[in-house]
Amino acid sequence: MPNIIDGSLPVVQARTAILTCMDDRVDPMKLLGLPPGDAHVIRNAGGRATDDAIRSLVVSVTVMEKPEIFVIHHTACVMGWVTNEQLRNLARRKSRIDVSQLDFLAFTDLDESVREDVSKITSSSFIDDSVVVTGYVYDLSSSQLREICRR
Ligand SMILES: [Zn+2]
Repeated sequence: MPNIIDGSLPVVQARTAILTCMDDRVDPMKLLGLPPGDAHVIRNAGGRATDDAIRSLVVSVTVMEKPEIFVIHHTACVMGWVTNEQLRNLARRKSRIDVSQLDFLAFTDLDESVREDVSKITSSSFIDDSVVVTGYVYDLSSSQLREICRR
């Protein structure tokens, strides 16, 4: 069992933490050409930098020797098609559960959503300034990654 108190937490092989959408059309390991074990993949609707996503990124950068973070959003993302209000209405109709207080973090500008999430990560007091964070848009139709911003 690792002893965290004396700093002997084992360093993992992975060097990259990827925050991306839960959409199964996005296969981040394949599109980056990474074998299993080379990256941590954190997924949620839209690949948004929520508090819980940042919690996972903090774990990743803590156990990686030279960590870097990729934020990858994608074209044709459902979270870019619908508004918070539409999702609330759909959820209410489907389950009859009141989700009126839930922010689904839907977005209207794909590139801007990447910049927002990279900024949220780089401005987090929990992520060291030395960690390189790069934001991309993955184009589902061309299978190409387009860099949006980097810190
Ligand atoms: Zn998506």
